[in-house]
Amino acid sequence: MKFDMLTIFPDFFRGPLDYGIVRRAREAGLVTIEVHDLRAFAHDRHRTVDDRPFGGGEGMVLKPEPIFECIETLQVAARAERMAGGAGQAVILLSAQGRRFDQELAGELAALERVVLICGRYEGVDERVSEHLADREISIGDYVLSGGELGAAVMADAVTRLIPGALGNEASARQESFTARAEAEAGPGPDSTCASGGLLDYPHYTRPAEFRGMAVPEVLVSGNHDQIRRWRRRSALEKTLRNRPDLLERVPLNREDEELLARITGKEI
Ligand code: SAM
Repeated sequence: MKFDMLTIFPDFFRGPLDYGIVRRAREAGLVTIEVHDLRAFAHDRHRTVDDRPFGGGEGMVLKPEPIFECIETLQVAARAERMAGGAGQAVILLSAQGRRFDQELAGELAALERVVLICGRYEGVDERVSEHLADREISIGDYVLSGGELGAAVMADAVTRLIPGALGNEASARQESFTARAEAEAGPGPDSTCASGGLLDYPHYTRPAEFRGMAVPEVLVSGNHDQIRRWRRRSALEKTLRNRPDLLERVPLNREDEELLARITGKEI
């Protein structure tokens, strides 16, 4: 999989994608990240990439020409082909006005061969980029950032984790928060039977078993795999109910989940 980052601050990407899993995925050749400086596509001696907004108003807007010209050098498939899904490619404009990025979308992008991420700045990007060049706009959350670079790095990280081989242990991705896969898919054993199934992940503990008077839950050192699985599922349900009750309305719950939830909330089923 290849990521292309289009930015006016190419040095921004030195660092965030040079550590841990993303770094290992790059070293293993699973992921390539190429950063393109939009100023290289400006034509005046000041390398101007922005201009004042038509109609007046505050701030500056990123001009369309450098972005269109940069994309033209990348030799990506035509927009219609990309949007029809046949090209295995996506050209995405980072924008607070876009569809919200989530784990499901990360999974969709991880199946592609190439993802081009256009990072806006200032008041945003000339709308013709969204209308005629990018396939879609994506937001990483309901807040306004100063630029698309942080969002692009966030997306590249989340997508890379889902590329087969990027995590040493594929079961890790299956268990993580938001991962909507049937528990049954995961196979036997306390680790693999706790696939999050769209909930938040269950709590994790490691040695020491007791730290400053705080002990880890006894069940986790009991060696009883079925009890561990039930405890983890109950904890994931509790945490989801506490922090993200909206997720419970979307995920399919089985009979055991319903019983555990009834016990947590004190309601009979
Ligand atoms: N005027 C824009 C608005 O109100 O929606 C905000 C522009 S913002 C200051 C500059 C750039 O940061 C945007 O063009 C976009 O690329 C990026 N950006 C800001 N918030 C973002 C978000 N939540 N997700 C992704 N990119 C974002």
